Amino acid sequence: MNFDIQIIGGGLAGSEAAWQLAEAGVRVRLSEMRGGGDTTPAHDTDRLAEMVCSNSFRSDDAEHNAVGLLHQEMRDLGSLIMRCADQHRVPAGSALAVDREAFAAEVTLAVERHPNIAVVRERIDALPDHPAIIATGPLTGAGLADAIATETGQDALAFFDAIAPIVHRDSVDMDVAWMAARWDKGGKDYINCPLDKPQYEDFIAALNAGEKMPFKDWEKDTPYFEGCMPIEVMAERGPETLRHGPMKPVGLDNPRTGRWPYAVVQLRQDNALGTLWNMVGFQTKLKHGEQVRIFRSIPGLENAEFARLGGIHRNSFINSPRLLDRELRLKSSPNIRFAGQITGCEGYVESASVGILAARFAAAELRGETMAPPPVETALGALLAHITGGADAETYQPMNVNFGLMPPPEGRARKADRKKAYTDRARIAFAAWLDSQKVAEPA
Ligand SMILES: Cc1cc2nc3c(=O)[nH]c(=O)nc-3n(C[C@H](O)[C@H](O)[C@H](O)COP(=O)(O)OP(=O)(O)OC[C@H]3O[C@@H](n4cnc5c(N)ncnc54)[C@H](O)[C@@H]3O)c2cc1C
Repeated sequence: MNFDIQIIGGGLAGSEAAWQLAEAGVRVRLSEMRGGGDTTPAHDTDRLAEMVCSNSFRSDDAEHNAVGLLHQEMRDLGSLIMRCADQHRVPAGSALAVDREAFAAEVTLAVERHPNIAVVRERIDALPDHPAIIATGPLTGAGLADAIATETGQDALAFFDAIAPIVHRDSVDMDVAWMAARWDKGGKDYINCPLDKPQYEDFIAALNAGEKMPFKDWEKDTPYFEGCMPIEVMAERGPETLRHGPMKPVGLDNPRTGRWPYAVVQLRQDNALGTLWNMVGFQTKLKHGEQVRIFRSIPGLENAEFARLGGIHRNSFINSPRLLDRELRLKSSPNIRFAGQITGCEGYVESASVGILAARFAAAELRGETMAPPPVETALGALLAHITGGADAETYQPMNVNFGLMPPPEGRARKADRKKAYTDRARIAFAAWLDSQKVAEPA
């Protein structure tokens, strides 16, 4: 079959993108290396859209949860991934969990049977010079990864993430924390949380005792890069190590005492909206529950709400805010788009959703049209805006969808109603955007 566009990678994003393009009448060559003699360290089968770990698509609550809202928007866009997930749902309370075998089999069948898709079991090692979407995921084959790094610059493709927790700004207690930069240099750009000596000692003891996530066998050679050492590894080296590293208090006068605290935790703005702040230097392999418990012992963070918890994994992702335009095109080679986790979104659902967007942008372009991106008030639009420019390129690390990626709704809502305020506004914005799409699409 001649094709109009090639998709590389038949995971969550590539399968979804192939389906969306094919449904729009575009002929697709879907190149997937599994089943052609290659595999990744995490996949066990040759099926498309294999879920490599948990069988959950997380919360399905579209009223109070950002990923639930994303589910709904994807369903409204005819998502194959969501349709197959709904079809093979297993009981999981308000979460959407699936029978992974049946789910992947269903996606594979639907994609393979589509008359506009040719699934080719082949590994791709070079960047194509025709229209393409690269959706090769966190474990992109080495040859293609090299080709991407050559095109984008070595420092623009990461092979490991080193994620520090991200906190919603409005959950920090500013009666305890304060804004300042070290030695008052530049603007008051950091949130500073002060610890006294007993608090610091308790914190170090908690880090040392906290349960950690083990590395997988194939991740054991994970290098700890300069400046990316997990905090618990630093704490193990001695009780003073953190106080001379990311928790250094020098030059930070606490306005409430007029003195430097014994130790400090700094948070730095992480998105252009100013709603999300990352804990500087706090990348960690602590288990998620432990992170919440231990980090809430930090003065000022007692009620912290985390948009993302820390982690360190093998994960290929590009510096999208720097490299991609608003339509997910590589600025240096605009016939190539990226989709899925390689863009720096995180998770099955987010990856598939970015597959939808890449496909729809590409389909519009092949028709000679331009698709307006979904508004930033929607889950899809917020994730897209974050990846393609809202995130700070300097500290870019993978991100799940969350309300902190959206501008805060106007007016004051009670805490209990805030999430509903986000989703009510998102539904209206999404419906209007969808309507504008229908006008744009040929009858
Ligand atoms: C160990 C591990 C555990 C995870 N656990 C979870 C979890 O519990 N929940 C969650 O939501 N997310 C989890 N993730 C993240 C999840 O895997 C991704 O979010 C999701 O699969 C990404 O979708 P994707 O389509 O971008 O990549 P993938 O689903 O990985 O698909 C990429 C596809 O590209 C193929 N490919 C790679 N290179 C080439 C090449 N050169 N040529 C041709 N084909 C190629 C691969 O074989 C693969 O099929 C985990 C990831 C890993 C590595």
